[in-house]
Amino acid sequence: TDPSRIRNFCIIAHIDHGKSTLADRMLQLTGVVDQRRMRDQYLDRMDIERERGITIKSQAVRMPWRDEFVLNMIDTPGHVDFSYEVSRSLEACEGALLLVDAAQGVEAQTLANLYMAMEHDLAIIPVLNKIDLPAAQPEKYAEELAHLIGGDPADCLRVSGKTGDGVTELLDRIVEQVPAPVGDPDAPARAMIFDSVYDVYRGVVTFVRMVDGRIEPRERIRMMSTAATHELLEMGVISPEPTPSGGLGVGEVGYLMTGVKDVRQSRVGDTVTISSRPASEPLGGYQDPQPMVYSGLYPLDGSDYPVLRDALDRLKLNDAALAFEPETSTALGFGFRCGFLGLLHLEIVRERLEREFNLDLISTAPNVVYRVTMEDGTELAVTNPSEFPAGKIATVYEPMVKATVLTPNDYVGAVMELCQGRRGQLQGMDYLSPERVELRYSLPLAEIIYDFFDQLKSRTKGYASLDYEATDELPSDLVKVDILLQGETVDAFSAIVHKDKAYRYGLSIAEKLRSLIPRQQFEVPIQAAIGNRVIARETIRAIRKDVLAKCYGGDVTRKRKLLERQKEGKKRMKMVGRVEVPQEAFIAALSTD
Ligand code: GDP
Ligand code: MG
Repeated sequence: TDPSRIRNFCIIAHIDHGKSTLADRMLQLTGVVDQRRMRDQYLDRMDIERERGITIKSQAVRMPWRDEFVLNMIDTPGHVDFSYEVSRSLEACEGALLLVDAAQGVEAQTLANLYMAMEHDLAIIPVLNKIDLPAAQPEKYAEELAHLIGGDPADCLRVSGKTGDGVTELLDRIVEQVPAPVGDPDAPARAMIFDSVYDVYRGVVTFVRMVDGRIEPRERIRMMSTAATHELLEMGVISPEPTPSGGLGVGEVGYLMTGVKDVRQSRVGDTVTISSRPASEPLGGYQDPQPMVYSGLYPLDGSDYPVLRDALDRLKLNDAALAFEPETSTALGFGFRCGFLGLLHLEIVRERLEREFNLDLISTAPNVVYRVTMEDGTELAVTNPSEFPAGKIATVYEPMVKATVLTPNDYVGAVMELCQGRRGQLQGMDYLSPERVELRYSLPLAEIIYDFFDQLKSRTKGYASLDYEATDELPSDLVKVDILLQGETVDAFSAIVHKDKAYRYGLSIAEKLRSLIPRQQFEVPIQAAIGNRVIARETIRAIRKDVLAKCYGGDVTRKRKLLERQKEGKKRMKMVGRVEVPQEAFIAALSTD
């Protein structure tokens, strides 16, 4: 295809503002998916995406428009955990539709995505979506949007992804305003990898955006970062299913298949060239996503360990951001310390492990990575609180984030109180409109990974939105709090906490464990300690009576039901020493409010 007829764009928005639904209408209007096969959020292909109604993986689709243009649309995930997916999608585009729910207005991820698109120099088309909603206020939010990106409120398109209203005009606007891709057709081939996924049947499928030159089928391709070469088994475009094509030229978006089995062989951000005539300079790539949050994953049944290891290996094929290494816990046995981009990522990985590999897992309270320097000059990264060193510590550094909260005026006080309670420093405050305020905080990542978002939502009746990005690390006064059951430290319960909060933390954990751990045949003392100093204690009293004693022998069904219910209750129990501890206890640790 002649590059002047190609338009590459993505749709960016706050979560739930309707990206996937708008993408559906585009697929229909351009005839790529016919009425019969259409289903809601067509591009959310994973089961877990469909159930949760969220997009996790980006998707690229090629759509013909008005017989002369080719539109490549890239649908992106909205959740903050997956913003690295958004940034790689932006690399492949010249333009972005900035979608805003006309009943909600600008939200935190609207801003974050807009800034990202501006950094990539993309043409930005402002669009108000969901104008069919009775609560829509397109005039008001057009003002807000225009104020944000500059320009005239009248230039904001008004569409409904649900009814299809305005979508034809939107497609025409894309042709008009998104620049055609520019590249050198005669130069050696260079293609940027913006995604790669593992498919059990086909191996790794690599998604590329051609920048210069051309790649033909049956060529040998070369990955520029490693110089590894692979034979091309198939290449083509996605429309909406993978369709083999006779090659990809300047500006085109498509896929390559080599039969390679591991996505790490086909790294996102790498440049693909051809071995017969390789390019000399790779395209500017970008960094691998780094895990921000760690948690221990242990099989409930120790004999499932090999299954868990294979399952993690398999998921890793498809998820470059997932990190894991074996670890042993005296309380939980053999398991893995796993690194994630955030809590949603953790939840999704865990759910997939349980569902797709039929595993029952215990996950420990999530924590961030601490960098500890010792007085003797050595330095270590602590990804597991139980490994926090006991010797002479010089400094402990913890990761910080820049958090942006958008909130209606009325809740500014509540938001500030929350952020201050989490050791936040206010960096700035702006009024986006007379009623809506943007607050910028510097916050320790550890303070927001667990229940910050829930707290924010409940304190603002659901009206505030949050986005954050990692910034740097700062020295901090942190200590390790251990929890002891019957006098034995349970490594899986150890946590790293700010000194000023350690006492309150120890107390609340001890209380929480007392209420979560069922009574046993014997008394169980619970203690919280910093080093050798006990800072809080609680006791779980012993049970006296056998549960069956109540049933005075006669009623068999009642007895069976009782036993069954007991078994049910035991499902997620783990023996720690002689004590039975429920799964909730392992993650209850961080929700201290
Ligand atoms: P995404 O997270 O940005 O991909 O948003 P989705 O496309 O998954 O949509 C989020 C929710 O908004 C879903 O329940 C959609 O049915 C609904 N929705 C999306 N677009 C529209 C629209 O134009 N009008 C109305 N009334 N609802 C919409
Ligand atoms: Mg979506």
